[in-house]
Amino acid sequence: MSEKVTIIGSGPAGFTAAIYAARANLEPLVLEGFTAGGIPGGQLMTTTEVENYPGFPDGGISGPDLMDRFRRQAQEFGARSAQEDVTEVDLSRRPFRVRTSEQEVETHALIIATGATAKRLGVPREEKLWSRGMSACAICDGALPMFRKKVLLVIGGGDSAVEEATYLTKFAAKVYIVHRRDELRASKIMQKRALEHPKIEVLWDTVLVDVLGDDVLSGARLKNVKTGEERVVECGGVFYALGHIPNTGFLGGQIELDEKGYILVKPGRTRTSVEGVFACGDVIDKVYRQAITAAGTGCAAALDAERWLGEQGID
Ligand code: NDP
Repeated sequence: MSEKVTIIGSGPAGFTAAIYAARANLEPLVLEGFTAGGIPGGQLMTTTEVENYPGFPDGGISGPDLMDRFRRQAQEFGARSAQEDVTEVDLSRRPFRVRTSEQEVETHALIIATGATAKRLGVPREEKLWSRGMSACAICDGALPMFRKKVLLVIGGGDSAVEEATYLTKFAAKVYIVHRRDELRASKIMQKRALEHPKIEVLWDTVLVDVLGDDVLSGARLKNVKTGEERVVECGGVFYALGHIPNTGFLGGQIELDEKGYILVKPGRTRTSVEGVFACGDVIDKVYRQAITAAGTGCAAALDAERWLGEQGID
């Protein structure tokens, strides 16, 4: 028996698609992933407080709690899910075939919501202090009380680094951009805004060696790569802005991707280059990357898949 629709991915995009598909009686199967994209549930699983997801006015909600609600809501309407990594897909024949670590699934429509993994440096105390002063998303976490009036570090030199540093100035006492070279990669206009900001200073030719702190982050050990000199900066937050890697390797080149590996869809739509395959969430979005935008495109993907299945006489 073929599935009507299979959803790969279990973040806000995947489970929103599952809620909509389940309510349309499509009985979706969600392949949540296990280790391939980090952990099941996507990037929110490593986020302590989510204060900007609408609907939670009294202090927000924790990332894992929010994802648990997404999953339960989808399951309530009949979505089934399995925590298995997808290893490969065969989109050359219909129904499509999806191979996981445990089984092979046949499916008429496929929704890809595998997200993107934020790059990390893997410094020695990173795992211990993650979400305790360390984050890979200043827009998501920067407004939390723990970062207010603190010295904050943003690591990276691209558009995300300068944009997030500028954003953090709303709350921080001071923001250092820590960049490994003597020149930013960010676009000139965004650089200018950051470089001229009185609260922002760039530490050129500098890398993060380690983070310091017991329960919460209290400092960072930095190294100047030209002089080899190391120093400790007291700070209340370290934000990685090192770029993201879209989780599209398992597609094996069967769907059109952009030069960075994100799935290409028509602007504002979720159809991919293969008919019957839809994509949503961070795997198509390198600009906004928010839980709410991922949920939005997840909804769109389910509606597009439902419509397409109807056109094929499968409902
Ligand atoms: P980028 O890949 O552009 O930048 C990543 C930055 O991290 C680079 O400066 C890079 O250094 C640095 N970096 C990477 N790995 C390491 C490492 N191991 N150690 C130290 N530094 C490291 O990612 P972004 O997220 O900034 O941007 C991604 C895309 O999204 C871009 O196309 C960007 O233009 C776009 N974007 C647009 C925005 C807007 O227009 N508002 C906002 C945010 C992103 P180096 O420069 O030396 O390689």
